[in-house]
Amino acid sequence: MGHPRLRVAIVGAGIGGLVTALCLSKHDDIEVTVYESAHRLAELGAGIGFWPRSREILKALDLEDTLLETAGTTAPGSEGTNYVCRKSDKPEGHTALVERLKLIGGPTPICSKRLVSYTDTNTADAPVQLAFEDGTEATCDLLIGADGIKSRVRVAIMERLAEETNDAAEAQMLRESAKLVWSGYIVYRCILPAEKLRQRDSEHSLLSSPMVYTGSNNNCIIGYTIQGGEKINVVVWTSHLAHENGQYDDGEWMGKGRKSDFEYLFQGWEPEVQALLDSFDEDPLRWVIHVTKPAGLPTYTHGRAVIIGDAAHTMLAFRRSGAGQAIEDAWILSNLVSDSKVTRETLPAGLRVYDAVRRPFDIDAQELARVDGHLMVLNYKGMPGFKDLYEEMAIARCGETIQRDWEWLWTTSAEGMVQASLKQLQEELRA
Ligand SMILES: Cc1cc2nc3c(=O)[nH]c(=O)nc-3n(C[C@H](O)[C@H](O)[C@H](O)COP(=O)(O)OP(=O)(O)OC[C@H]3O[C@@H](n4cnc5c(N)ncnc54)[C@H](O)[C@@H]3O)c2cc1C
Repeated sequence: MGHPRLRVAIVGAGIGGLVTALCLSKHDDIEVTVYESAHRLAELGAGIGFWPRSREILKALDLEDTLLETAGTTAPGSEGTNYVCRKSDKPEGHTALVERLKLIGGPTPICSKRLVSYTDTNTADAPVQLAFEDGTEATCDLLIGADGIKSRVRVAIMERLAEETNDAAEAQMLRESAKLVWSGYIVYRCILPAEKLRQRDSEHSLLSSPMVYTGSNNNCIIGYTIQGGEKINVVVWTSHLAHENGQYDDGEWMGKGRKSDFEYLFQGWEPEVQALLDSFDEDPLRWVIHVTKPAGLPTYTHGRAVIIGDAAHTMLAFRRSGAGQAIEDAWILSNLVSDSKVTRETLPAGLRVYDAVRRPFDIDAQELARVDGHLMVLNYKGMPGFKDLYEEMAIARCGETIQRDWEWLWTTSAEGMVQASLKQLQEELRA
């Protein structure tokens, strides 16, 4: 490569960062470097499902089969709700993405590089300076923060904006907007051999269909098969909804849990639930689920820095679309940045368009996921449309509402958003 049109640093090699790297590395005039804080590309995660809307992007990137081949399976379900599951607590999925990057001459993520801060004078002739925990530094023209829920880049962007304003209340609002809140849920996740469940109940519904077991004490269990049906991913959602959007101050957010932490909540539930819980014999993972604030951030960008994925919008996993949203962000941002009219000089215009197109959409997606969560754990009392309904009707309405809310995941495409954003970019550049 001669002198690149843009030098892009991606911080974070999760699905959002790696898909962005793949999209941008296809362009000879863009130099991409990926920095990852972990010592190797293996992370704890959950069996991730991709809906048709994000699968369409994976297909366009020639990635769908790669993910299927390495760790995936197509879970059973009706045509609309069919989804791919990828087991993400082993390095295979990430390795597949990195292998694909190598194939197209893209970068290998540099591990053990935790970004601690950056400086950006927001001028075309001075690069963004990155500082890492190990004392090293690097420069780039564009910093993409794909650094997940505890994003340093998100906090730094809001801090910069806060420092720029003379209005103390606004500065406070900006700083607060970068903070996370407790969703009011604690989840426990376990992966079981399907055989174990089969031995207890050979007709168990989970062996043939994704299931949600829910009850009026506002807890639920979601399960589906992964790895060609050999394993079952089970996520137990326990509710503490009085604390929704509050602070959790009772210890670690993530670690090992115990079955005894939640087993009692499901006493007296149907035999399938008991068979499932009886099959748990190792300690589940426990997450105190935090999210970005429901009102969303006031912006995703400042100067030559921008955020995507969980760094920008961490949402509840009830509708299983967080990774899908990270992929969409990556796709739309990459389409804008790779437009040949986007240079060091015009870059902020491209980032503004990304922000204008994606942020309202993400805020809606996050709110729908929150509402779906309430419906899934049958916390519908007080919700519009549920007043004076008998329990049976209310439960039926919960199901119908969730189904309706989810439809966009398989009936719509992100392609329209790509085209709209490119059009908006041309208008911005003409102005
Ligand atoms: C229980 C559960 C179930 C889920 N199920 C689904 C599902 O079925 N479908 C779905 O679409 N989504 C699901 N999600 C959500 C999904 O996992 C996330 O939305 C998605 O992984 C976010 O990807 P990301 O690349 O934005 O962030 P991450 O995957 O968190 O990646 C961020 C990366 O940045 C690195 N990093 C962090 N800080 C720094 C730093 N300072 N410097 C350098 N690197 C850094 C981290 O090590 C990490 O590798 C689920 C989430 C949970 C908790």
